[in-house]
Amino acid sequence: MKSETIAAISTPMSDGGIGIIRISGEDAFLVADRIYQSKSRNKKLSDQPSHTIHYGYIYDDGIVIDEVLIMLMRAPRSFTAEDTVEINCHGGIVAMRKVLETVIKNGARPAEPGEFTKRAFLNGRMDLSQAEAVLDVIQAKNEYALKSSVSQLKGAVHRVVCELRKEILYHIAFIESALDDPEHISLEGYPESLKSENEGWIYSIQRLIDSAEDGRVMSEGIKTVIVGKPNVGKSSLLNILVGEERAIVTDIAGTTRDVLQESVNMKGITLNIADTAGIRDTEDAVERIGVDKAKESAKDADLVIYVTDASVSLDENDEEIINMLKGQKAVVLLNKTDLDTVLSEEILKEKIPGKEIIPISAKENKGIDLLEETLKNMFFEGKLSFNDEVYITNMRHKAALIDACESLRQVESSLAIQMPEDFYSIDLMAAYESLGSIIGEQVGEDLVDEIFGKFCMGK
Ligand code: GDP
Ligand code: ZN
Repeated sequence: MKSETIAAISTPMSDGGIGIIRISGEDAFLVADRIYQSKSRNKKLSDQPSHTIHYGYIYDDGIVIDEVLIMLMRAPRSFTAEDTVEINCHGGIVAMRKVLETVIKNGARPAEPGEFTKRAFLNGRMDLSQAEAVLDVIQAKNEYALKSSVSQLKGAVHRVVCELRKEILYHIAFIESALDDPEHISLEGYPESLKSENEGWIYSIQRLIDSAEDGRVMSEGIKTVIVGKPNVGKSSLLNILVGEERAIVTDIAGTTRDVLQESVNMKGITLNIADTAGIRDTEDAVERIGVDKAKESAKDADLVIYVTDASVSLDENDEEIINMLKGQKAVVLLNKTDLDTVLSEEILKEKIPGKEIIPISAKENKGIDLLEETLKNMFFEGKLSFNDEVYITNMRHKAALIDACESLRQVESSLAIQMPEDFYSIDLMAAYESLGSIIGEQVGEDLVDEIFGKFCMGK
């Protein structure tokens, strides 16, 4: 029986702006040939060998939609074990949707959620527990990807970068004209106005750079550390959270060999719980490594889960941990609420203002739902407000922003020592170009190839 050919936007792993459309099924190559043209316009994908990459354009009714790289994988050497074509788009989410529409117009049907994984399973590529684990991860990552795509769609990054470039370009043009025509355009008092503008630009770019950290949270999960005194129930909690879904290594993007960490999927958010402290071992983290080390590992965590024991009072060790929680994203668990309690929510609320306090019983598996709900709210509605903030999720973008920022700081120091004006314009131009590389302007084809090359090799 002939398999239907399915297509979908597969998970953007690192950047909502660059994505892969995957086509799988017997007609995958045929569909691709209908919409693809190489530069020389004489290449047929269906004639090409398996596991090769091709550069070219996607057309819809004779109009170019996107510049792409296409990866071919013949059955059974693909994720689904069917003929598979992966189209790497780089025209952003809008172009990506357009490409998908075109693919569907030309003979594929939209894949149902999880259908690629289902086929991989049906074709004997993985067993059911692996398939389920992959689905969990895909689902979790997709919820993030969706959030990130929403803001990409709004063009938030694009808007900010374009605005900055426009302003910088204006100043470059002004300086150049003034140097050309000193009789008519005066630079008198100009350095002061440039100085304050420049400060504003640096501030905006710095904010984007800072958001790269949150971008990491989005694409890789939330780096989580569980802290608390010995015997409060940390291991019991971790066991409930992790359950039997321990890390599994599988192909996700077909070309990618993604090694997953020990991660816990909670209603669409992924916690990467650091077990570096060995909470799962018989010896306890805090017991063995001491509060100092616990502090150390909590310091660069995105989330700290502080576990307390309702059947005993707080002591000086707790005081230390509580101090450490200040300025951290943290939740406090009041565990062992099944026992006679001496420690209450009220006491904790007073001691640790501003943090969520959640009563649970690890022993009776109670309160875990509330924990999940709380974390979900924290990350989707509160602390990481995906909708108003601009997030940089791509390390290349971050590097370009850092370059731009450095150039502007150079402007700052040139201004401070009153260098001649043409010095500013060189650095302003450098900043302008660095920013341009983020939105795809002034990027050579080599760089585009390099970016795609990296991406499809699944780094
Ligand atoms: P850790 O030292 O913080 O990792 O704590 P453990 O998870 O090893 O638990 C210490 C002890 O407390 C074990 O005997 C657990 O069975 C018990 N314990 C953990 N959670 C609960 C709970 O919610 N209720 C009760 N009654 N006992 C619990
Ligand atoms: Zn333990």
